[in-house]
Amino acid sequence: MTRDRCTPAPQGETESARSPLDRLRVAKNLLSRICKQDGAGAELAECCDDPEAYEPDVVGAVVLLGLGLATCNGLLERIDGGAPVVIVDVPRADWIDPMAKALAACFDTAPSPNGPWRKDRRSDAGRPATVVVTPGADGNRLDNKCASRIAQAFRENAALIGIASATRTGLPSDLLRACEERLAVGPFDSDAVDLLVEHLVGSRPKQSIADQTAFAIEPSDLRIAIHRARGADGSIDRLAAVIGKRMQRQGNVNGPRLQDLAGYGAAAEWGMAVASDLQAYARSALPWSACEPGALLAGPPGTGKTSFARALARQAGVPLLAGSLAQWQSAGDAHLGTTLKAMREFFEAARRAAPCVALIDELDSFGDRQHVADYNRGYAVQVVNGLLECLDGDGARDGVLVIGTTNHQDRIDPAILRAGRFDRCIEIPLPSVPDLAGILRHHLGTDLAAADLGDAARRALGGTGADCAAWVRRARSRARCEGRTLVIADLLSEIDGREDSRSNDDDYRVAVHECGHAMVAHTLGFELNSISMNRASEGGGLTSFRTPDKYPTCQRLQDLMTVHLAGRAAETLVFGAPSTGSAADLAEATAISGHLHCSWGLGSRVMVLPVMSMPDDVLAAVEQDLRQASDAAICILRERPATLDALARTLMSRRILDHAQIEAFLRKPKGMGVPKPSACEKARTEGAAGALPRSRRKRRSERAGESVPLEGSASCRS
Ligand code: ADP
Repeated sequence: MTRDRCTPAPQGETESARSPLDRLRVAKNLLSRICKQDGAGAELAECCDDPEAYEPDVVGAVVLLGLGLATCNGLLERIDGGAPVVIVDVPRADWIDPMAKALAACFDTAPSPNGPWRKDRRSDAGRPATVVVTPGADGNRLDNKCASRIAQAFRENAALIGIASATRTGLPSDLLRACEERLAVGPFDSDAVDLLVEHLVGSRPKQSIADQTAFAIEPSDLRIAIHRARGADGSIDRLAAVIGKRMQRQGNVNGPRLQDLAGYGAAAEWGMAVASDLQAYARSALPWSACEPGALLAGPPGTGKTSFARALARQAGVPLLAGSLAQWQSAGDAHLGTTLKAMREFFEAARRAAPCVALIDELDSFGDRQHVADYNRGYAVQVVNGLLECLDGDGARDGVLVIGTTNHQDRIDPAILRAGRFDRCIEIPLPSVPDLAGILRHHLGTDLAAADLGDAARRALGGTGADCAAWVRRARSRARCEGRTLVIADLLSEIDGREDSRSNDDDYRVAVHECGHAMVAHTLGFELNSISMNRASEGGGLTSFRTPDKYPTCQRLQDLMTVHLAGRAAETLVFGAPSTGSAADLAEATAISGHLHCSWGLGSRVMVLPVMSMPDDVLAAVEQDLRQASDAAICILRERPATLDALARTLMSRRILDHAQIEAFLRKPKGMGVPKPSACEKARTEGAAGALPRSRRKRRSERAGESVPLEGSASCRS
């Protein structure tokens, strides 16, 4: 029977075979075998300070082997008495040599795996000795000695054991084909470390190492840290310190894990699943082909994309390596050759550190080769090509989860986003009210432990995780300067930070603007989440609504543009003229219209055109769409000026209105449940996208290429 992985214990035995006590029992059994051999070296022990015959990393490998064998019913007995062909998968490549020595110590093997091969070698029991094979250090190259050992094992019907790691897999094909069992071992947990220390030092440590730290143990850590003279607790302390320092160097020890963070919504679910796969891969319990190789995190600045990648690495217990184009350019003189060399070195370091997370910050800084200026094209093309080479290079990315971050997904070269590279995009949007409460709590730690953060979170809507961190920092500093403990009022005043600087008139204008968005969205059938007056963030207001259409039609896109331009329309209606506060809305509406004509074939042309350099007639069509949308919004709002004013004044006093409150308000009597006015209908559809106006005035929209969120949550932020 051929088995890819160890056969689990049969029903009834499974539980006991896998109980922690049983796992340790098998490990102790193996440790007693190497003790017997130590006994044989008693003479040596008498004249030697350290009687331990095996290095701590080899004993560590014995423990890991025992724990692994405990999960494989009957495998220990089969190796002892039969001739199975087994591959032992170790957690990292540097466990291969200690594991080979551990197997040699525990079983009758044909000398040391690296030693000379004697054809006549027999075990004490008269059986042919077990043959242990390790992969070549430089990839798949195998020496003749290894080939002849394998041939001998088959000829003599000896047990044959290959050792592999996720990044060193080069075992001979005969062994791979004959393999009956795959045994995944390691990594350590705290119980295993206690057992190891007890065996090496002679006493059990009083305090165990944390599982998360034990998980990261490398063979060299054991050699450096554990010594009889240091005692059990001294060895544990040193082990924790050595691992802590290494992880600190890798920038991955201090800080929260993904499970400790709030505000990531669906992205967190994805991250937890990926971290768990990465852990399984590290244990050799999952092949790399079954793991997610990378993803792009996209969202506004400060929403925590970089923090997410770091927390994911901590969650998986693997190192994080961070790089960016800017960093590689500053490695030398920004000369192309130096930049590419630094980039390749980064990927090489990631390969060596695998399993790990390799973070590439600001992926959009590589640019899109289609849209770089001519004088820069040669450089940009080579840098992007260099990145593609590193991402694809020779399948040697196993164990390296590459995460890119960007604030501008639309500015990334399509080749970088291709399948197998960064085709998976995880959106990290602005946090919701519950998310903000969680993020504020995270940054407050035990401060204001009894406080309800609901009000603070509502006021913070529209802010990012980075804003939350800054508000908490400033609130603490405010309290410190005044020589008292932090109170909730400190936090609220920081969140409302710019309140004092905005006049009542400006406040009313912001409220009118947001309520304009909300009323038009409601009339056109979009579901509203909330309207808020966030004075602390850049603009001052936010209207959040749902855009449920996955594949919107031209009509629906026009509705969306109408909602985006409704804030400006409301200002025009109430104050006689719009203000500068609509820049983001105009950019959003321009982007929708630009894509409508240039990318989606819903406008004047079916042909796809570069959005960044639209021909004159399409520019004019975009302009007309925007004017049309603006007229339609004014038309809707003109029907209900009193509602607009009342809603704006309610918002000014409450600062945030949720879905239920908005619905209740807009459904009130006094003619507020407004049907779509026919005149507006006309304004919305007349001269709809596609009918080209006569005007030939050239107007380049710089932001027409921005990404357009078409499904899920959308917002108008001013
Ligand atoms: P981005 O990469 O999206 O620009 P960062 O990851 O650099 O954002 O986040 C900046 C800071 O904001 C972080 O150092 C962290 O303090 C804070 N932050 C952002 N999002 C969160 C979150 N969800 N939970 C806790 N802190 C966050």
